[in-house]
Amino acid sequence: FSVLAIESSADDTCAAIVDSSRKILANVVMKQHDIHEEYGGIYPMSAIGTHQSNMPYAVRQALDDAGFDVVRDVDGIAFTRGPGMPGCLSVGMNAAKSLAAALNKPLVGVHHMQGHALTPLLTAWPQEPQFPFLSLLISGGHTLLLLAKSVRSFEILATTRDESIGRSFDKVSKLLELKWTSLGPGDALEKFCAEEDEDDCPTVPPFPRPLIGQPAFSFSAFHSHVNLLLNELETKANFDQPMKKAIARAFQSAAVGHLEEKVILGLELCKQKGIFVQDVVVSGGVASNQYLRHRLRQCLLNFDPGTPYSLIFPPPHLCTDNAVMIAWASMHRFLANDTDLYSIELRPKWSIEDL
Ligand code: ATP
Ligand code: FE
Repeated sequence: FSVLAIESSADDTCAAIVDSSRKILANVVMKQHDIHEEYGGIYPMSAIGTHQSNMPYAVRQALDDAGFDVVRDVDGIAFTRGPGMPGCLSVGMNAAKSLAAALNKPLVGVHHMQGHALTPLLTAWPQEPQFPFLSLLISGGHTLLLLAKSVRSFEILATTRDESIGRSFDKVSKLLELKWTSLGPGDALEKFCAEEDEDDCPTVPPFPRPLIGQPAFSFSAFHSHVNLLLNELETKANFDQPMKKAIARAFQSAAVGHLEEKVILGLELCKQKGIFVQDVVVSGGVASNQYLRHRLRQCLLNFDPGTPYSLIFPPPHLCTDNAVMIAWASMHRFLANDTDLYSIELRPKWSIEDL
């Protein structure tokens, strides 16, 4: 069974074709970073306009890459129903609905975060995570620690009280005036931290450690702290490159430390409830960060060397937004004949507990 999926919840226009034997036949991601860097973030009107321009080409490219002449050759059409920016989502939904109705194909609307969460079931196969597993979703709009009980049952163990970790990376990258890489401001911050030092790196005052022991995230204090440090420095006129790098690294370390604490808390919570969890999955755009991957690996090893937890990340290019994850998250529904009406509506705000 092959699915053509369309994803347009934020700034990337994505189309992909995946089949039920886990073959990724096409994965087209058309980025808009050049446009949004000018505004310093996603500017909704231009994101919608760019989706409208790009969507036909993304779909055509996906069919070409898969070696399909026409959409008639695919068996089902999937799209991202939410959560996301309503105007952006509607471009993808309308394309998907029109294709499905015109060709009389079944249609499935997918939860974007379910897509991020289920990606490792596709990419890590045959060593894919086994339910129930712990899922840490770290992206531009969300920071969620979930207990994944089945493909469509998720319990939120912790979410953020203020902003997402991705947004926090984006803001700090902007405060430090880093030039975006092709993967955006968060990736630019990671690359900057990883650069070799030419001079000694100064030390910076420790970052706050919010909500210790509580099942919740908070990231706003981290970029406020960076702001504070920068304000102090400006008066002393010593905002040089080594200092900038020291601040960037201290931020990245503190943000990852916050995640570590919550992952351990999540595992302990599961233990207390008598839930046997062996796999920890980390997905979403921020999970493409290599420093974070290294730290979380060490953290799990140190937590309980006797328990062989496996830590599973999708490959970096499937951590950031893509339509492969949407195709894959729709597959179980197509195979069960559980499809949506062509009149289905968007759910721009949609809890993953309510699938
Ligand atoms: P959501 O999935 O919550 O709707 P989104 O789809 O906009 O949000 P993703 O594409 O999953 O988000 O992730 C984008 C986020 O990941 C951005 O905030 C970006 O800066 C961040 N990001 C991407 N690469 C890295 C990296 N290497 N290090 C840190 N952050 C990164
Ligand atoms: Fe996303």
